[in-house]
Amino acid sequence: MAGSGTGQDRLDKIVMLIAAEMVADVCSCYVMRAGEVLELFSTLGLNKDAVHKTRLRVGEGLVGDIAAHARPIALDNAPSHPNFAYRPETGEDPFQSLAGVPILRGGKVRGVLVIQHADRRHYTEEEVETLQTIAMIVAELVAQGELVDPQEVFSTGDAALLPARLSGVPLNAGLAMGHALVHRPQLTIRQMVADDAERELERLAGALSAMHSAIDDLLAAAALAGLGEPRDILETYRMFAEDRGWLSRIREAIHMGLTAEAAVQQVQNDTRARMSHLTDPYIRERLLDLEDLSNRLLQHLAGKRSEADGGTLPEDLVLVARSMGPAELLDYDRKRLRALILEEGSPSSHVCIVARALDIPVVQCADALTRIEPLDHLIVDGDHGAVFVRPAEDIQMAFTESMATRSRREQEYAATRSLPSVTRDGVPISIQLNCGLLIDLPHLAASGAEGIGLYRTEIPFMVRHTHPDVQQQTELYARVLDEAGDKPVLFRTLDVGGDKMLSYISAGAQENPALGWRAIRIGLDHPSLLRQQLRALLRAAAGRPLSVMFPMIAEVAEFDAARAILDLELRWLERRGAEPPSRVRVGTMIEVPSLLWQLPALLQRVDFLSVGSNDLMQYVFASDRGNPRTANRYDPLSPPMLTLLRRLVEASRDAGKPIGVCGEMAGRPLDAMTLIGLGFRSLSMAPQSVGPVKTMLRSLDVAALRKYLVQLTQGGDHSLRPKLRAFALDHGILI
Ligand code: PEP
Ligand code: MG
Repeated sequence: MAGSGTGQDRLDKIVMLIAAEMVADVCSCYVMRAGEVLELFSTLGLNKDAVHKTRLRVGEGLVGDIAAHARPIALDNAPSHPNFAYRPETGEDPFQSLAGVPILRGGKVRGVLVIQHADRRHYTEEEVETLQTIAMIVAELVAQGELVDPQEVFSTGDAALLPARLSGVPLNAGLAMGHALVHRPQLTIRQMVADDAERELERLAGALSAMHSAIDDLLAAAALAGLGEPRDILETYRMFAEDRGWLSRIREAIHMGLTAEAAVQQVQNDTRARMSHLTDPYIRERLLDLEDLSNRLLQHLAGKRSEADGGTLPEDLVLVARSMGPAELLDYDRKRLRALILEEGSPSSHVCIVARALDIPVVQCADALTRIEPLDHLIVDGDHGAVFVRPAEDIQMAFTESMATRSRREQEYAATRSLPSVTRDGVPISIQLNCGLLIDLPHLAASGAEGIGLYRTEIPFMVRHTHPDVQQQTELYARVLDEAGDKPVLFRTLDVGGDKMLSYISAGAQENPALGWRAIRIGLDHPSLLRQQLRALLRAAAGRPLSVMFPMIAEVAEFDAARAILDLELRWLERRGAEPPSRVRVGTMIEVPSLLWQLPALLQRVDFLSVGSNDLMQYVFASDRGNPRTANRYDPLSPPMLTLLRRLVEASRDAGKPIGVCGEMAGRPLDAMTLIGLGFRSLSMAPQSVGPVKTMLRSLDVAALRKYLVQLTQGGDHSLRPKLRAFALDHGILI
């Protein structure tokens, strides 16, 4: 593949190598041409004159059969196969056995690769697999368009189009359908060297200034659209764009004799090489931003508009990209944008944060670019992390139906917004929201939630390159409180660690990050971090009530230590004569089981408790929540967990201290039903769960459920979910 010569030369070499390696008498490669015709492109062992002459229709002969069904064939007696078609010009009569595989790319058959032997011979599975692997490489050669103009094949339409289901990682929930637009920011650079460095430097300066004003326009547009964090993210672009190191490396490369484009690309390549060795997700993401910036600069240098400006974009765009910067996503017309598929990305990557603000599903899918072709019809299931490529009609119908049901449901849920959150037998339940971004706040009014039961303060920290100072934090928290108005907000102090590490705090390598240096442990080891955050919270809440809770508290002494820091900050505020909050409530998350054995002491100290069932589950069952093999192995609706939760809620009630649940289970109707049955009266959840949970609880009779639960949790079941579901159905509870 990497060799010199034309595409044909390289194909001939590959065919020769395969024949030699597999000790085959024949190796031939057929390539798909317009009109579903497979043309013999190269052979070793068959008559050379047949090359570019022998053509088979898809379905004709064994080669056509392989293409038609897109599956390998291995025969020890090929001529006796009913589909065998003898072509005298190839001289293949002496060959008895044949093994062939389709050359597939993007789910389409692009050709067929065949080996033949004169004697009767059984091909092993391993040999066929080897051939398939080689076919993948040949597919790249075909895709490069040197053998057959890609336009020729595309224009014939759907040569052996295969529907495919790609599974990936859900990065942002939602369901969408549309047509693929492959985002290829890379431009081909025609001229690499230049004589006149001064001229190239001038061109670079011109492109930089055009890029700056384009970023400023984007910033203004983001501000107009009220996109909070995306705007902050774009600010970091401006910072990067003015990064001296980056620019001086480009200038240096120009002085070495490169054109401005080649210089930008060289620096970009260096960055990529660095990136491939990096494991720190935060730094990787920052480098992806830089890559985006380089692509932008290249586009300005070429005076080219990006794909995003194209007038011929599909009306329903699903963007497919290796990676993407947030600004690039904002380049596309939001009205057309339906979903995003990334080969590289994580839920906390900038582009995902922007996608969330735009409310489009995002799925990360490792081989998206090889499996998806431009304009392919796609269904993106951001809830389950699946992408359906060229879906069959029945799948399309099923998804259209789900999308319609979803929007009908959403309308029904919206209608419950102003209805009281009270069970059928009159028990009031407080529904709160889990938030972490300013863009989440409008949901507070829209969903009818009573307040914010969990504000995850770490998220704004994670999208920044440097630690926000007290002033910046104060402004952010004040904005959260302003936007929440008279609805209460429960701020949780920094819960970083594990995979949520910040670039400016190094935890070193940790064998068990979930059991490692995280959350309050970092706060107590670096009290200045916690002090700054608490100071900012106290200042932001001046004259208003403030509720703060600490994450991952494992013992009462840790709570005391954290609380002491808060008291210190309160005194500091008083000494400076600043206005304190009208009231300060302090609580803790219940995530670490050890705390359950110190409940009386804990309950004397706290103003409230909030159960972080996500972490509590993983520690109770010793089962990593981030590992797909273990994440769903145990059910929160199980005797141990429900017994534990009941004790917790009863102890809190006896102590007169409010307790809520803010883990994911609070947002799932059946789980929420069970929590209410156990005695919880406050549930905090993602905005999209409010409608379903409220609908459920308005149809629930708590008294009947409470009795049933007492008896249920005494058994030895692995999961009580089926029984609880049956109970809900029998009692008309809308789960
Ligand atoms: C939890 O652990 O349940 C929780 C709400 O915290 P997080 O999911 O942010 O760890
Ligand atoms: Mg947690």
